[in-house]
Amino acid sequence: MSGIANNAGAEKPNFFYPTKKTQHSTSIFLNDLMLRSSKFAETQNPGNMQLLDGKLLSENIKAELAAEVDVIKQRGGKIPHLAAVLVGENPASEVYVASKIRSCEQVGFKSSLIRRTTDVTEAELLEIVEGLNNDPDVDGFIVQLPLPKHIDEEKITLAIDFRKDVDGFHPVNFGRMAQGMPAFLPATPFGIIEMLRRYNIETSGKHCVVVGRSNIVGTPISILLSRKGYPGDCTVTLTHSRTKNLPAEVRRADIIVAAIGVPHFIKGDWVKEGAVVIDVGMNRIDDSSKKSGSRLVGDVDFDAVAPKCSHITPVPGGVGLMTVTALMINTLKSCRKEIYQD
Ligand code: NAP
Repeated sequence: MSGIANNAGAEKPNFFYPTKKTQHSTSIFLNDLMLRSSKFAETQNPGNMQLLDGKLLSENIKAELAAEVDVIKQRGGKIPHLAAVLVGENPASEVYVASKIRSCEQVGFKSSLIRRTTDVTEAELLEIVEGLNNDPDVDGFIVQLPLPKHIDEEKITLAIDFRKDVDGFHPVNFGRMAQGMPAFLPATPFGIIEMLRRYNIETSGKHCVVVGRSNIVGTPISILLSRKGYPGDCTVTLTHSRTKNLPAEVRRADIIVAAIGVPHFIKGDWVKEGAVVIDVGMNRIDDSSKKSGSRLVGDVDFDAVAPKCSHITPVPGGVGLMTVTALMINTLKSCRKEIYQD
């Protein structure tokens, strides 16, 4: 049975800040979702492993956000507004942005999509960013990466007002996060943290091995899991392509976070019995049995690893959906001025 904690109907959802670990109560609504989750797990789970169901959890959180928006509407308050800037027609970016816009619709946020072709100049894009920075109706915005090669992504990221940086990529937010100050947490690590918290997964004193040190996933999740409080208080090892004897490092982990970008990279014999496995990878591989000719897989060899672990995220249906949901939470926080008051 899933152990998801729920905030639905609460006056103000307690979205993640490190706290003392508490056991959360569950509602009837949630029990139904939990049943669906456990049935889902049973069909894929020969042992005692529990799926960390990002789809279920994000539906749950979105229901809470929608309830929040209803309250805002009743009180005549400002509706949260997320804007997205999409350059070109990268198929993966199209899918990610569409899912962000759809999520806004689901929770009742306002959304705007600004599209430009790949020949957009850096100056034009900076102008768009400046316009969004100064638009009082826009609470937060994202510039979908990757950008065409002639545009300096770092320059664009730095141009975004950190008070509207709901992706949490700006160095101000990153630095504040590292110091434990209120900040927009980067969406993927935030989604992972929220998942651990809502599934009541013990983190204190656990050894966490993060594989991959990117600025958007590996490095920030290593910081968040080593912070004081819950979820956190882990002893973290951050590994990368220069790490010696990676399988031995991973074997020591109580919690594994895989963010590498190589399909099925983490093998079954790298994983300790009972480990918690968070698979961030999103890799498209050929599959002639699919109509599209391909399918999405993670960085973890799911079939070999799942029977050994206590909890694991599926791909798809795990961290990816939580990332989009985390972006929604950040947008609500921005609208409410919970992080920055002016
Ligand atoms: P990235 O920027 O490409 O970084 C990959 C990291 O993996 C690097 O730190 C690299 O080490 C390390 N690495 C690569 N090969 C390795 C090897 N053989 N052994 C050990 N470490 C190795 O990746 P990212 O942006 O974090 O993305 C990682 C994966 O997560 C991708 O599949 C991406 O699509 C996915 N992703 C998913 C979400 C989501 O919402 N689910 C969000 C973001 C990313 P070095 O630093 O030494 O090069």
